[in-house]
Amino acid sequence: MILQNYVGGKWVTGAGAGHALIDPVLGHELAHASSVGIDLDAALKYSRQVGGSALRALGYADRAALLGKIAETLSANRDAYYQIALENSGSPKSDAAIDIDGAIFTLKYYARAAAALGTARYLVDGDLVRLGRDDSFQSLHVGVPMRGVAVMINAFNFPSWGLWEKAAPALLSGMPIFAKPATATCLLTQRMVQDVVAAGILPEGALSLLCGGARDLLDHVDPWDVVSFTGSADTAAQIRSHPALVRGSIRLNIEADSLNCAVLGPDATPGSAEFDLFVKEVAREMTQKAGQKCTAIRRVLLPRPSLNAAADAISARLARTVIGNPRNESVRMGPVVSREQQQSVNEGIKALKLAARVIFDGGPNFAPVDADAALAAFVAPTLMACDDPFAARAVHDIEVFGPVATLIPYADVDQAFEIARMGQGSLVASVFSADANFVERAAIELANSHGRVHCVNATVAETQTGHGNVMPMSLHGGPGRAGGGAELGGMRALRFYHQISAIQGPRERLDALVSAATRWPQ
Ligand code: NAP
Repeated sequence: MILQNYVGGKWVTGAGAGHALIDPVLGHELAHASSVGIDLDAALKYSRQVGGSALRALGYADRAALLGKIAETLSANRDAYYQIALENSGSPKSDAAIDIDGAIFTLKYYARAAAALGTARYLVDGDLVRLGRDDSFQSLHVGVPMRGVAVMINAFNFPSWGLWEKAAPALLSGMPIFAKPATATCLLTQRMVQDVVAAGILPEGALSLLCGGARDLLDHVDPWDVVSFTGSADTAAQIRSHPALVRGSIRLNIEADSLNCAVLGPDATPGSAEFDLFVKEVAREMTQKAGQKCTAIRRVLLPRPSLNAAADAISARLARTVIGNPRNESVRMGPVVSREQQQSVNEGIKALKLAARVIFDGGPNFAPVDADAALAAFVAPTLMACDDPFAARAVHDIEVFGPVATLIPYADVDQAFEIARMGQGSLVASVFSADANFVERAAIELANSHGRVHCVNATVAETQTGHGNVMPMSLHGGPGRAGGGAELGGMRALRFYHQISAIQGPRERLDALVSAATRWPQ
C-alpha cells in the first residue's frame, strides 16, 4: 500500500516505491510513503488562497465548533487508531492513549475554551493607550490571523498529538494547516486526516498532508506563513538556517530535544511519601512510550546520601516491568519505533557509559515477551549513575531517545540547580519535596531554564498530571537546547498564529474597532 498525500484538495500518490513503514515488533512492511513529484509550491498556494480565505471568513466560535467536530470524528475511530499505533509504533494501549486520546483531549479543550469568543474576526490585546497631549489620539493593539499557511513538521514519536496539538490553536486562529509528519510513523496521521477529510468538517484547503520527505517544502514558504518544527536539535539547526526562512524572516517555532530532569528535595529521604512518588515517576518516565517522549526524565538529581536507595528502588520497578510484544496483554513497555532508532539508542547508551556506570540494564538474559529480538527493535530500560556530573558533560549533552536515565547526585541545593541548568535549557523539570521553602525556591530557580516546572508532594499524589504529560492549558516548550519554542498554554498558543498590530487613530474609531472585536482571552 502506498499512502496518498492530501494536497490542493485532492488525494495524490507520490512517485516511486517510497519509504517503507515497518512494524517494529514483527519487522513487516505496513505501507510506503512518497512525496516525490508533488508540486509543493502549488500545494502551499492552494492552502493559503483557498483554505486561508475560507477559515478567516468564519469567527472564532465557528472555528471552535470545527475543532469539536474533528474531536468527535477522531473519537469515533479510536479503535482503528489504536491498532495502527500498535502496528506502526509498537505501542501498548496505555502508550497509544497518550498520543491518540491526548490529541482528542487537546482538541476538545480548545473547542470548549474558545466557544465564548463569538463571531469576531480579530482580537484586541489590552486597553486603548493615550498617545498625544489629550485623549483624542490613542493606540489599540489588535491581533489578526496571519494570512499564510501553518506548516507543521513533526517528530516520529507523536504522529497524532504532534499534529492536533498544533492544528487546534492554528485552525482556531484562522490559519490552514500543512502537516508533514515524520515518515516512519505517518500511517496514523494519514488515517486521521483521511477520516477528517471524509467527514467534510473543514473548508477546502484548510488541511493538507504530506507523507514522505519534506523535499523542497521550505523553499516555498512566504512571509505570511508560520513554520512549526518538532524533532531533533540537528534537524532544527538545519531548518533555522534554511535560506527561505532566513530571507523571509519566517515565524518559526522549534520544539527540539531536551535533557529534562527530576529533582528530589533534600527533605525527601528514603521512606518518605515524596521519595516513593519520585521513584515511581522516574520508572514510569523511563518505560512509558519506551522513553520516546521529548519530556521524559533523562537526568535524575538527588541528594548524594539517597543515591543507593533510589537506585535500588527504581531498578526494582524496572525489573517488574513486562517488556515485549504489545499484542500480549501483560506487556507494559513496547519496542522503540524502528531498528534505526534502536541502533541510535544503543549508540547513545555506549556514549553515556563513558561518563556513567550502569545500575540496571535488564542483564544478559533480557528477552522481550513474544518477540524475536533479531527482527524487533527492543531496548532494555537502562538506569545509569554519574558520580561526577561536573566532569561528565555527556550526561547533560546526549539525549538518548529511549528508556534511559542517569542518576546524578548533588551535594547541596545550589549545586542541584546548577546541574539542572547544565542541560542548557529544557522542556520540564519536576521537583519532589514536602519542604515548602525548597519547592518555592526551586520553582523560581528552575523557571528561567525550563518551560515547565512540575512540583509534587504527597498532597497531590493522586491529582498531579505527570512529569512528562503535556496539558493544553500549560505551556509546552523550553529555552535554549529545547528549541526556544512555546506551544499550548491555553490561549497563549493563539499568539503564534496572529499578527499583533498597533492601530493608532482617533479615539472614536478605535472604540468602534473594540466593539467589533473580542478581548484576547486569558
Ligand atoms: P528528526 O529526525 O529531526 O525529524 C523530525 C521531522 O523533521 C520529520 O518529519 C522529518 O521528516 C523532518 N525533517 C528531517 N530533515 C528535514 C529537513 N532537512 N527539512 C525539513 N524537514 C526535515 O526527529 P525525529 O527523529 O522524528 O524525532 C525525535 C526527536 O524529536 C527527539 O530528539 C525528541 O526529543 C524530539 N521531540 C521533541 C518534542 C518537543 O515537543 N520538544 C516532541 C517530540 C519529539 P522525515 O521523517 O521524512 O525524515
